[in-house]
Amino acid sequence: MSIKASECMEETLKVLVVDDDEVDRMAVHRALTKANVQVQLSEARSFSEALTLLEDEVFDCAFLDYQLPELDGLILVQEVRKQGIRVPLVVLTGQGDEQIAVELMKAGATDYLAKSRVTPERLEQVLRSAIRVYRAEVQVAIANQQLRETNELLLRKNQELEAQRQQIQLQNLKLLEASRLKSQFLATMSHELRTPLNAIIGFSQLLLRRSKGVLSAQQVDMIERILNNGKHLLELLNDILDLSKIESGRLEVKPETFNLGQVVGATVEELRSLADEKHLSIELSINLDDPQVYSDPHRLRQVLVNLLSNAIKFTDRGEITIDVRTKAPGWVVITVRDTGIGIAPEKVRQIFEPFRQLDQTTTRRYAGTGLGLAITDSLVRMMHGNITVESKLGEGSVFRVELPQQLPPTDRATTAKAFSLSRSDVL
Ligand code: ADP
Repeated sequence: MSIKASECMEETLKVLVVDDDEVDRMAVHRALTKANVQVQLSEARSFSEALTLLEDEVFDCAFLDYQLPELDGLILVQEVRKQGIRVPLVVLTGQGDEQIAVELMKAGATDYLAKSRVTPERLEQVLRSAIRVYRAEVQVAIANQQLRETNELLLRKNQELEAQRQQIQLQNLKLLEASRLKSQFLATMSHELRTPLNAIIGFSQLLLRRSKGVLSAQQVDMIERILNNGKHLLELLNDILDLSKIESGRLEVKPETFNLGQVVGATVEELRSLADEKHLSIELSINLDDPQVYSDPHRLRQVLVNLLSNAIKFTDRGEITIDVRTKAPGWVVITVRDTGIGIAPEKVRQIFEPFRQLDQTTTRRYAGTGLGLAITDSLVRMMHGNITVESKLGEGSVFRVELPQQLPPTDRATTAKAFSLSRSDVL
């Protein structure tokens, strides 16, 4: 307290005394002069004179007589505050005016003091405390104003963010619609293209069958190329058709009970000639507690064909092994292992993305569309399973498919729907 008082002493305080009574003004004047403060005093005799002075000059404090001839001190306090004049106001009340103290304080007075109690010590105390309180109030007001401004800024930012969110949502809807239209277009196009393509494949097969003695070796070679390219194109169209069906949620798994070992065995035999052409050995081992599973055999075959043909395609020497076993009760795991080129660790995540091929050069060694694993991953998930891969560059890859032995029987439609939603983030 004493430190603050001495700090205050060092500055000269500009004080205004508003009173119509000269004797009272003099009394305040005398008391302030005797008090332990340095003041520069100004005086006003009336309401209007006081207001003009307060408007024109900056005061550290003003003492107002409550009973002014034109209007009372309460109205002056209200007027000063209404005009936003920043000054601590101490109202000097007469005998019997003390009751209105509460109203004065509510109107914006900083303090009040009965004239009968004016002494140098009391006045100094009131002056210092009024200034201190008022400065604190001003600080609070400034902090409040800053808070309000920050709040408004935050509100504005919030509104901007909300507008952006709505914009993004709208764009998302547009994107979803565009994606749906694209899938629909792809489905229609691939379907339409398949008809003429089947004619090309069918007629080239027919021509080849009747070519003996009619066509030259060169002509036969050309027809064989037409047939092979036609078949390749048909595979591509089928992949695109599958993918677009998956995306639009129109692909359904059709579960039935079948012998898993037999389906895997038959698929391996179908592809054995491809492995033979590259002099790769292909080994199958089956170790199932119960070979009967309830799932979609056609989709499972499709998964196996994709994994096996990749294993053969990306392996130049060594062997392909397929292992089918019971993992835990109710689960089977199919492992396709190769000794091929392998996949770099940072690329492993990419291989399940549609149209993604790790060798993007124009002189690519391996043919393909980049759709096989995207479709495989989707099909496995539709069958409530999951697929993982482990690979080492230059050493080979292991693809592992885990499937439940029993697909939930009532789950067909929902599987396709849930699946199409989860794919939307990929495409
Ligand atoms: P495609 O085989 O038609 O290129 P996929 O979707 O089946 O498309 O495979 C995507 C890519 O993943 C392949 O282009 C290849 O780079 C990589 N890949 C897939 N299987 C293997 C494998 N067994 N060994 C090495 N790389 C593989």
